[in-house]
Amino acid sequence: MSWDFSTEPEFQAELDWMREFVREEVEPLDLVFRGPADPFDPHGAARPIIRPLQQVVKRRGLWACHLGPELGGKGFGQVKLGLINEILGRSRFAPVVFGTQAPDTGNAEILARFGTHDQKAQYLQPLLDGDIVSCYSMTEPQAGSDPGEFTCLARRDGDEWVIDGEKWFASHACVAEFLIVMAITDPDVAVHEGSTMLIVPNPTPGMEIVRNTAVGPRDEIGSGVHGYIRFSDCRVPAANALGPVGEGFKVAQSRLGGGRIHHAMRTVGMLSKALDMMCERVVSRRTKGERLADKQMVQEKIADSYTQILQFRLHVLYAAWLLDRDQGYSRAVRREISAVKAAMPGVLKDVVYRALHLHGSLGMSNETPLMDMWQYVPEMGIVDGPTEVHKVSVARDILRHVEPSPGVFPTYHVPTAREAALRKFAQVLETQEA
Ligand SMILES: Cc1cc2nc3c(=O)[nH]c(=O)nc-3n(C[C@H](O)[C@H](O)[C@H](O)COP(=O)(O)OP(=O)(O)OC[C@H]3O[C@@H](n4cnc5c(N)ncnc54)[C@H](O)[C@@H]3O)c2cc1C
Repeated sequence: MSWDFSTEPEFQAELDWMREFVREEVEPLDLVFRGPADPFDPHGAARPIIRPLQQVVKRRGLWACHLGPELGGKGFGQVKLGLINEILGRSRFAPVVFGTQAPDTGNAEILARFGTHDQKAQYLQPLLDGDIVSCYSMTEPQAGSDPGEFTCLARRDGDEWVIDGEKWFASHACVAEFLIVMAITDPDVAVHEGSTMLIVPNPTPGMEIVRNTAVGPRDEIGSGVHGYIRFSDCRVPAANALGPVGEGFKVAQSRLGGGRIHHAMRTVGMLSKALDMMCERVVSRRTKGERLADKQMVQEKIADSYTQILQFRLHVLYAAWLLDRDQGYSRAVRREISAVKAAMPGVLKDVVYRALHLHGSLGMSNETPLMDMWQYVPEMGIVDGPTEVHKVSVARDILRHVEPSPGVFPTYHVPTAREAALRKFAQVLETQEA
């Protein structure tokens, strides 16, 4: 196994181009269009600016880099995608401009893997082209982390599925062309055998967006992009099942790993932006006759942030490397993605808090990107499954093959181990004593 942390010069040139393009052409969008749906709404006010930028990215051959060549992507693999997403993580608009935004990436992945010919033609192709956006709807008001508690039902009636129930926090439902909804299709068996993914075009009679829930405290109630959805006798054709009936859970599992690691890759970008801000601030601000940067407690914050970001970044890239190596969600990959996912809110909290703190009152204001970043701290601990659940997965995997101590004392009990070591070297020791 070889270890190599270098980037090919040709690919580095592409990364350099992306960094400049995102900074000069994309980040300004964040300053002008601040509504939660602005990056995603195909008919929103930012579209006339987003579309030409998407064309530039397509011409450069960097559109939808997460895809393999069979779907029109470059097939860069996950490590390179990690380096790309670090750059895209600096702007809320960048993933849309580069065709890599969630949840469309994961939805495209499962449409490509499980979709029928017709489903691909109707939904996958326009999604890949960036002409429409999609929604993935699994969470329910009474249950998120544990699908075993889901109650949204779909029953067969002739050649239709009839959906009844509620969904919660269905991101981008308000602007999506279609939703992929996880519904219980056999309530008599466990959820991993009795749920099915259904494609629900938007709008469909019987599907109602009760409210668009917003993240954070300030926005008007109902002004967000996370749909609280009610299905009442909502009918879709039987052909809208995505993947085998009863295997919705498997379909869901196959998309979540990618979503989690892509979040982590973009988080590296957000973290490095926070560090950049921190650094600029401390070399600019003076107190007690010297720069903040000259104070040791400030230097500690810079050094700790740098080290934590680098550790997290290497962990993310390692998980990406495993994914490339194993070409799928092997046990090793799943463990590492869960570990990265569980670490993410902690690193964000430490680094963004230091950056906020070093900016004083300005950091607390809405006049830097820092308070927006602060919101991501709890969000990253919840979205795609809470931290606790991922830690449990990691620990269980680590402990899987660990044997209990053979006796009362552990194998590393010094007196016992020393006895064995003395026996091992007995011949030499006896010669020396003689
Ligand atoms: C910004 C954002 C976007 C989202 N987008 C979508 C989307 O597009 N589609 C979608 O379907 N969902 C989406 N979600 C929902 C998300 O997937 C759920 O919030 C998540 O699965 C947690 O479910 P919950 O909110 O019901 O919390 P709960 O399951 O109620 O968990 C609440 C808390 O309970 C504790 N807990 C839960 N389980 C355990 C456990 N096993 N052990 C120990 N403690 C535990 C944890 O502290 C956890 O944070 C989104 C969420 C956010 C915040």
